[in-house]
Amino acid sequence: MTVDRRHHAVRAALQQGLLTEEQPVVALLDIAGIRASATALRAAFAAVTDAPVLHAFAVKAAPLVPVLALLNDEGIGAEVASPGELALARAAGVPANRIVLDSPAKTPAELAEALTLGIAVNADNPQELARLDAWAEGTASALGIRVNPQVGGGSIEALSTATATSKFGIALRDEGARAAVVRAYLDRPWLTRLHTHSGSQGIPLARMIDGVREVHGLAEEINAAAGRQQITTIDIGGGLPVNFASDETAPTFAQYAQLLKEQVPGLLDGRYGLVTEFGRSLLAKNGFFLARVEYTKVSGSRPIAVTHAGVQVATRTVYDPASWPLRIAAYDDKGSPKTGEPVVQDVAGPACFAGDLLAAGRPLPLLEPGDVVAALDTGAYYFSNHYGYNSLPRVGVHGYAVEGDESDSVRFSLVRAPQTMAEIVAESGGGLAGSLL
Ligand SMILES: *Cc1c(COP(=O)(O)O)cnc(C)c1O
Repeated sequence: MTVDRRHHAVRAALQQGLLTEEQPVVALLDIAGIRASATALRAAFAAVTDAPVLHAFAVKAAPLVPVLALLNDEGIGAEVASPGELALARAAGVPANRIVLDSPAKTPAELAEALTLGIAVNADNPQELARLDAWAEGTASALGIRVNPQVGGGSIEALSTATATSKFGIALRDEGARAAVVRAYLDRPWLTRLHTHSGSQGIPLARMIDGVREVHGLAEEINAAAGRQQITTIDIGGGLPVNFASDETAPTFAQYAQLLKEQVPGLLDGRYGLVTEFGRSLLAKNGFFLARVEYTKVSGSRPIAVTHAGVQVATRTVYDPASWPLRIAAYDDKGSPKTGEPVVQDVAGPACFAGDLLAAGRPLPLLEPGDVVAALDTGAYYFSNHYGYNSLPRVGVHGYAVEGDESDSVRFSLVRAPQTMAEIVAESGGGLAGSLL
């Protein structure tokens, strides 16, 4: 299904003129796929608990207002970590009681705004908690503390948030920390939530579950010490890894929820409401970008296809290719999958540094000028998280809906207009040319 829709969308994007000399990169999102992922997430947790569950999409994974509005329509809220992300969630119409604010560097003004609006806040550290003391009485916001269970990291250091020295949350295994967290709850009857997020991509499922188990155990300890169910809701974060190696969704939300049910049954026995904060696993496989091949060449006997997509849309892959390999699909200029013997080649981007490669040494049908490459599974954290190197423009993003078998039956909806040259100049001090003279 998903793969068929993708093939239709590629052909239609070329026939309907989305990819041009002026717009040589375009990003596409599968509307039905996003809805299906949201449905799968809701169903996975509904199958294991009767308690209320708020699924809050981690906005940083796809900070695009129409995407947040689509997810909101599916009953999915927003996890935000900056004033900008909060503004996007509000622009998308996400109600305050479905927004969770988690940043590690919230200013007093941000905290005051969140509490005025009734947005849930997870305090990252004791100093932030002390700030909340001034406003907490009488707010509609659900308030909690983020803890780091220090259960260990995964294969990608930069994304491992439950290591001994992670910058996030209160480190539970540090000397005296656990007792201090319990005390903080007993002193503040308005603290009703407990939050953890053990990491993203590269964290083994078993380790994510270890983190959740730790946090559930702490909630039980706090509630016992309080003599009442003070903690009513546990926020288990996001971080379900995505399979970048094939079209298969693995692991699934259902598998994760079932594992939680087996391994932390007390979390799902109905006494605790839940919050989840999935990002990548909701969007990655529902988006891809297309780029035109401008030139091909051979260097040191290695064929290279020079495309228009590189570090600006695939920043992590370009800077850390071993951790973030992307599947590349090759199409001809009509959008038909290219056939032909695989030839080991590099797929390069347009930026002016040697490492700007979407893929190195990849066997693909030999690419030619005018062909099109698709970088798959890039619906989260890729084209939506633009990197402005070489003043390359933010690319246009379109949603697609496949309504029949012909390419004119694919309907595209603009999600984000491509950045214009005038905007690039203006953002780069264009109106201030004389300011240093
Ligand atoms: C980034 C982040 C998430 C989402 O992580 P994914 O790997 O995209 O699911 C959730 N919660 C917090 C606190 C985060 O920082």
